[in-house]
Amino acid sequence: MRIPAVAVVAAIVFGSTAAAAARQDPHQLARALFKQLIEIPTTESGAGSTPAAEAMAQRLREGGFAAEDVHVVGPGGRKQNLVVRLKGTGRKRPVLLIGHLDVVEALREDWTVDPFVFLEKDGYFYGRGTQDMKDGIAIMMTTLLRFRAEGYRPDRDIILALTADEEGGTANGVDWLLKNRRDLIDAEFVLNHDGGGVILDNGKVVQVDLTASEKVYADFDLTVTNPGGHSSAPPRENAIYSLARALDRVSRYDFPFELNNVTRAYFERVAQRSDAAHASVIRGVLQTPPDPAALKELAGDPIYNAIVRTTCVATRLSGGHANNALPQTARANVNCRILPGHSPEEVRQELVRVVADSTVKVRYYNFLTEQLDEVAPAVRGYAPPPLRPDVLRPLERVAAKMWPGAPVVPSMAVGASDSVYTNAAGLPTYMVSGSALSRDDVRAHGQDERMGVQAFYNGVDFFYQYLKAVVSYR
Ligand SMILES: [Zn+2]
Repeated sequence: MRIPAVAVVAAIVFGSTAAAAARQDPHQLARALFKQLIEIPTTESGAGSTPAAEAMAQRLREGGFAAEDVHVVGPGGRKQNLVVRLKGTGRKRPVLLIGHLDVVEALREDWTVDPFVFLEKDGYFYGRGTQDMKDGIAIMMTTLLRFRAEGYRPDRDIILALTADEEGGTANGVDWLLKNRRDLIDAEFVLNHDGGGVILDNGKVVQVDLTASEKVYADFDLTVTNPGGHSSAPPRENAIYSLARALDRVSRYDFPFELNNVTRAYFERVAQRSDAAHASVIRGVLQTPPDPAALKELAGDPIYNAIVRTTCVATRLSGGHANNALPQTARANVNCRILPGHSPEEVRQELVRVVADSTVKVRYYNFLTEQLDEVAPAVRGYAPPPLRPDVLRPLERVAAKMWPGAPVVPSMAVGASDSVYTNAAGLPTYMVSGSALSRDDVRAHGQDERMGVQAFYNGVDFFYQYLKAVVSYR
């Protein structure tokens, strides 16, 4: 093996820093990073992502990463992103880790504690971003710093991208990197720490999720307009009645049943640990074609129903302008969660067909720009990527060790994350995280956001083992 002299010198110089970092307790390192991140208000109204990207870049350089492997890039201003590369042997193509630095707004008066002061209290860390997702940023950073300190050389480069504007805003960092600096982040597959996860029920780990698919969010505006007039001699034609009939048809309509490789794997695993009756219902649904009686029973559960089909539901209603006048306008918002592989425009046309009344205008509503459109975006949610063994098997192995008895379950999220960008760009993306959350303690975007202290430290231990298993999988 031929090592250039310069590299040897560099290795010796970094050796001391790296050795110091290796001596540092990983939980203490992760906690320090977590605290630092929480106390930088990376909100839209606050500091933006740039100070956090720069702070993490500095940590990485101090931890022995060469300056040329640490990049703070983006459109400039408040919306910069950080990209760092831990070089491997190059035996395989890189893996990309992603996480968003920005957090949702938090008002001091809404919280019982200061959202931007890191506080440990009664077994929890409090602060905006403790669940979504500065925990994950601190965990991924800690893992890379540990690998660097050990001089670990994985089979593939590990790239970490910490990005802006996942929660809103117009400078989404993952989108920007894909469009402008694909060279920095190009990878064989992606691990997104912003989902998946370990689920707690009454303090016990019951499930480890591998989220490999997401539904697509879309709002539709249904509007009926009439000339109006005096209500003392009403004609049959009435905007409110027309809209009510349209909504009634939507309420009775079921979008087609459909499984993909992720939801199929999900049901197979649920069946394995269900009682006989429940398992036979699920197996009936897994048949091709599905058993109609079994499907009817399964779809009676709103959560299962949302897994097997696109759903649309009325969420807002308004109409009329005076008690003694015929309504000139009646409007409703219908919120849809679309199965991957189908587009909002496809769903809009289906709603037009279901409503079956040309006086009801069905328009796509973009809640970011607050605009109504006659035509919805044609982009399809990405088809779920195959469940790669080098992502799934290490998860099963590490989970079995850390949380014996809790099954690993491939799942589909009903919201959307930055995975939409990477998947759309052809980088198969999986969401994995080891910080356990209680089903009834989901406070992301909410008040008094918090993360269990032990859950966080377990997440640190988990990700170190998991990532090592992924990059050394053969
Ligand atoms: Zn998030």
